[in-house]
Amino acid sequence: MSFQVFGLPVSRGVAIGRAVLVASSRVDVAHYFISDAQVASEIDRLRVARDVVATELGTLQRDMPAEAPPELSALLDVHLMLLHDETLTGATKHWIRERHYNAEWALSAQLEVLARQFDEMEDEYLRERKADLEQVVERLLSAMARGALPAGLAVPAVRDFGGEDPLVLVANDISPADMLQFKRSVFTGFITDVGGKTSHTAIVARSLDIPAVVGAREASRLIRQDDWLVIDGDAGIVVVNPSPIVLEEYRFRQRQIELERARLSRLRHTRAVTLDGECVELLANIEQPADALAALEAGAVGVGLFRSEFMFMNRAGELPGEDEQFEAYRAAVEAMKGLPVTIQTVDVGADKPLDRMSINELRHEHALNPAMGLRAIRWSLSEPTMFRQQLRAILRASAYGKVRLLVPMLAHPSEIKQTLEALARAKQQLAEAHRPFTDVEVGAMIEVPAAALILPVFLRHFDFVSIGTNDLIQYTLAIDRADEAVAYLYDPWHPAVLQLIAGTIEQARALGRSVSVCGEMAGDTEFTELLLAMGLRSFSMHPSQIAMVKQRILRADTRRLAGRLGAAMGSDDPAVTCAEAFGGAVQPALVALR
Ligand code: PEP
Ligand code: MG
Repeated sequence: MSFQVFGLPVSRGVAIGRAVLVASSRVDVAHYFISDAQVASEIDRLRVARDVVATELGTLQRDMPAEAPPELSALLDVHLMLLHDETLTGATKHWIRERHYNAEWALSAQLEVLARQFDEMEDEYLRERKADLEQVVERLLSAMARGALPAGLAVPAVRDFGGEDPLVLVANDISPADMLQFKRSVFTGFITDVGGKTSHTAIVARSLDIPAVVGAREASRLIRQDDWLVIDGDAGIVVVNPSPIVLEEYRFRQRQIELERARLSRLRHTRAVTLDGECVELLANIEQPADALAALEAGAVGVGLFRSEFMFMNRAGELPGEDEQFEAYRAAVEAMKGLPVTIQTVDVGADKPLDRMSINELRHEHALNPAMGLRAIRWSLSEPTMFRQQLRAILRASAYGKVRLLVPMLAHPSEIKQTLEALARAKQQLAEAHRPFTDVEVGAMIEVPAAALILPVFLRHFDFVSIGTNDLIQYTLAIDRADEAVAYLYDPWHPAVLQLIAGTIEQARALGRSVSVCGEMAGDTEFTELLLAMGLRSFSMHPSQIAMVKQRILRADTRRLAGRLGAAMGSDDPAVTCAEAFGGAVQPALVALR
């Protein structure tokens, strides 16, 4: 049956593929692809776990006290029967062989398939057997967790996928760290039930440059393993099992998007200069050193935001040391071949926890309000040893290229003072150890309204500022950016948000300080003219967005745009007024695709 699911569009384009369901109840089991060579050992892990559980159940039955109710023994019989049933273990092997899922993932995928079959049973007694099945799977998972992973399996390998069909990942929720892991895989699109447009899971999905829909609420319940899916990443629609006509329509759109991309890629070497001769700096946001390649390929003139926190995640409590960090920063700096790299000190917390917690777990189980908690610079200042290690690692990388240091989420003058003291101390330690480093520029993220409101204080202490619009919107409007329930109120067009951004740009420019925007607004072409009109000349975004933004810049006349800024800002509905005021500034005929 064909039907549609609606969510929030987070990454543009059309994806068509078969559903790979990451079961909601099992998000905490590891999900990774194995190579051909690992299939046999993975099936072996499953077999060993099954034998262990069979022994456990047998022992339970044998040692059952005489007074135990007879139903208990019957229940264990049911569990043993389920354990040996081919529909569980046989089909799990199928996911391992055909899809190259690791054993835990394969098992939870098969549980999801069977659980749905139980849900549809007429007979109440049989329907209730679903709980037994879940318990058996729990036992198997726990047996696997107790057993050591065979060598080489712990690190997810780049997948040697044998299947023919493209795959779309469907999950209730995915942590940003897991999403980053999927970066090296073959998924052609992503769908999650929860999350907002600028949740970090969505941001990582966008950086993969493949269509994604988040906040699709019931998607992982309604979609079944292997269903054919179309993701319309522009509209936020998922079409499940589309009819041939709908499928053909979307395939046509896919081809058009490909053509458009190929056309835009020709702008790569074109300098971003407006019609009236204003040069604009287009920088890249990256999550790991390897992303520098995509940044260069997209024609970025530097990295405006290297989110170092991804290196800190999923490490079972052990954080990266100074040398490991230094190697990563140096790799990014060297890869950028002399172009500037802005490394942001770690921004963990909120929806970027150190372990692989998902939004749901954070929201319901761990912290009341993680976005307001010990996050970003607050966490760094509470871990002074770690912070100084990171500062030293960043400083050391400056001996290999142009490094700029960026500090997230500062709000209090006292935090500025402590940060700069920690930096001075880190420099002193390096100097004493005769480690080379250069005098890096130091900048502050402006992403808390308090920072924007006391900007002169920041400008006294920092060489540059970068506006983190994702958080600035969240904190100005009191809307959790990761919460799909209030996503409709997360509004970059809110006049209060625009005022803070415009004020920051104006004040920084007046003092001759460089100011950039590195939140998602920078890569969204809806805002390009508005930001230019505000005086912004430095934008940092996902590499995949650079060409589209550049195209808008090439068509813009900043004098004309600036003249219309007042009307746009003063309105009750800036989105509409901006479209009217800036629409006339677009002159496609003048754009030369050189
Ligand atoms: C922002 O808040 O706009 C930003 C760029 O940082 P992050 O999205 O990592 O919080
Ligand atoms: Mg931020």
